[in-house]
Amino acid sequence: MRPTIYLAFVDDWELSGDGSGDPFELQFRPMRELVRVYNAHGIRGSFNAEVMQQLTFRKFQTEHPELKGLADAWEEAVRETFGQGHDIQLHIHPQWSKARYHNGRWQLNGDWSILNDSSSEARQMICTGKEYLESLLRPMNPNYRCVSFRSGSWCIAPSPHMLNLLVDAGIVFDMSIVGGVRYHTRRIDLDYTSSEEDFLPFYPVMTDARKVSDKVEPIICVPTNHFYGSRRQTLQHHARKAIGKVKSRVTPKGVTNGGRTVETYGHEWAQTSHDSFVTRVYEKGLIPYVKGKHLISDLAQLDYSLMREMLHSIRRRAGAAGLDEVPIILENHTKDIKDFTHIERFVARVSKAPDIKCVTLSELATDLKGGSFQIKTSAMK
Ligand SMILES: [Zn+2]
Repeated sequence: MRPTIYLAFVDDWELSGDGSGDPFELQFRPMRELVRVYNAHGIRGSFNAEVMQQLTFRKFQTEHPELKGLADAWEEAVRETFGQGHDIQLHIHPQWSKARYHNGRWQLNGDWSILNDSSSEARQMICTGKEYLESLLRPMNPNYRCVSFRSGSWCIAPSPHMLNLLVDAGIVFDMSIVGGVRYHTRRIDLDYTSSEEDFLPFYPVMTDARKVSDKVEPIICVPTNHFYGSRRQTLQHHARKAIGKVKSRVTPKGVTNGGRTVETYGHEWAQTSHDSFVTRVYEKGLIPYVKGKHLISDLAQLDYSLMREMLHSIRRRAGAAGLDEVPIILENHTKDIKDFTHIERFVARVSKAPDIKCVTLSELATDLKGGSFQIKTSAMK
């Protein structure tokens, strides 16, 4: 019998990493469009609302009244989405922590990785963010709670205090680990290539979520899914994107999303040039031949054929795990979705699949706590 896959459609809902972009184009409009897609196919999605941005808009709103209008519209979009049964959970980009606003532009001076903030600074951001979301949504549903966390730019491990801070804040599970991810950039330094578990829920070593603990811990990690796309589909996808780029140059009106392109995403994450030549040749040349191209399961970055490959990989790995029920967390970035037709086809397909149950992050937290899923310890290997 095929295992049942509990699939969470998760979206990181935010402006560009440097604070640029029009909130209407990068957040409010695409959120409503995505919610329309979910509603049309009877599924409920989850949005990781980046709260540091919103709290910063509120902080500056007296001096700059245009920010008040945007912060109010942000809350309206979140409440509207929540009111339709979709979930809202916690996402934090610490670069907003020392923001300045000048001539209508943000200058974000905080560190991009929360791992570089002190324990008390990190605690402050987590608690303020959680309290903000709960006070916003509890009037609509008194049972609402922040139960999950995804760290900005995936920064969760290693850290002497991050997981304990999440436990103190009442977070049930973290989803910041993504197998195979390694960033050595001007802003982010992290390496999850040797994570001990990159598919199933597990109890982490409390100081390093890349490692599986030998015992039950007060928090659970559920990795965000990743897979290896075939060379053929990856190449076709990139070729189509390149053609799209040429077309959009010819007809600039075709560019929506506030001018933000998928390439911007790559740019934000650009590797530093001092990566050794050998490393680059190895990762760009050799690994794709052996395993396919490493892809985060970020729907905004995939076309429909790659989404099908992703689903095939999820089913194959879930089957190999030999469990009856497996939770899977996907990624998405509303700000990067240019064409909703791929996601809509995928949602339509998944909503009819007999082996897939779409769940929200709150439902996953309840099921994880209630013992519906096996949660790994290293003793079980
Ligand atoms: Zn983010």
